[in-house]
Amino acid sequence: MSVLDIQNITKRFGTTAAVDNVSFSVDRGEIVALLGPSGCGKTTTLRMIAGFEWPDEGRIVIGGADMATRQPYERNVGLVFQDYALFPHMSVAQNIAYGMKNRGVKRAEISQRIREVLEQVQLPGIEERRPSALSGGQQQRVALARALVTRPDIMLLDEPLSNLDAKLRLQLRREIRTILGRFGCTSIIVTHDQEEAMGLADRIVLMNKGRIEQIDTPHALYQSPRTLFAADFIGHSNWIGGTLSRRGGGAATVETALGLLPVIPRDVADGPVTLCIRPERLALLNSSDQAEIMLDALVERHDPIGADLRIWSRLADGTSVQSLEKNVGRELPAPGARVRLGLRIVDGIVLAGRRQEP
Ligand code: ATP
Repeated sequence: MSVLDIQNITKRFGTTAAVDNVSFSVDRGEIVALLGPSGCGKTTTLRMIAGFEWPDEGRIVIGGADMATRQPYERNVGLVFQDYALFPHMSVAQNIAYGMKNRGVKRAEISQRIREVLEQVQLPGIEERRPSALSGGQQQRVALARALVTRPDIMLLDEPLSNLDAKLRLQLRREIRTILGRFGCTSIIVTHDQEEAMGLADRIVLMNKGRIEQIDTPHALYQSPRTLFAADFIGHSNWIGGTLSRRGGGAATVETALGLLPVIPRDVADGPVTLCIRPERLALLNSSDQAEIMLDALVERHDPIGADLRIWSRLADGTSVQSLEKNVGRELPAPGARVRLGLRIVDGIVLAGRRQEP
């Protein structure tokens, strides 16, 4: 059962469509990330759900009710912003009480709920502190508590972690996920950070230039991107350009500068394509190893990433590729070594179009 239904919404500023015919829905208790590069329309979409902007076309339905004439304060949504937006002259308790007072919650219940919600965000007993006496991470948890305490139909979080340093971001990301899960809160999180979206969301709505590029689980978006943009935006990739053709019984190949490579094209039409290969799918072969697809390469450099090693090599046609060796314990070929890289046919993702080198 969906709590939020976005139906074909468009928002123009002047002649440009900031949001262009966007539709998606969010189920009860689900955490959905709106992900995409700067300017792709994420914040505008969130602001329309909150009621701060009005769509030029389309409908927004929350809990079965059309929001066409509802002002922001008439929508039961909780908001958390990047800059915390706590009232600096009020105590933590007064900040959290604010939304409940506006909704007519009784005094005794307000204190009870403040106590409970502070425990749930793991900040018990800080009722009387001022926001200035809290760290950035604590302020953001108070902002979360303030939004959650009103028991919204849906929580809207706009880049909630972007003002925090890297270590705290990671920690608070896990906490936010736990807290939202504990409340069973239906949530939408805007972020331009793919790792954050992957770590927080049940599903990702990937946006590009005002439109939806793909909606999927983080895993599916990584394993089965449907467009070059999606493959490029999520994770690292290797790219091999070519021309797809299916001959006779459906066996398909891509003709590339490296020769004919067998592929599983799924619903991509014959013609110009790009083969996307995730680095961890490209294996460094020993001389006795065999693989469905084998590519000769020259090792150029190694980049350690924790216990793993990223190896950069150059293929015969000059294409630079990266492969990932997990938990490196064995001796690896040094820069300058000639090697053979192997992959399975299913691990070559065929995408329509040719990729322009950035
Ligand atoms: P960011 O991550 O940088 O916040 P975003 O994906 O959230 O980007 P939006 O802020 O929704 O993108 O903006 C989408 C487009 O709409 C951009 O081109 C932006 O310049 C434009 N835009 C947004 N708000 C306004 C406004 N009030 N007036 C004019 N143009 C706007």
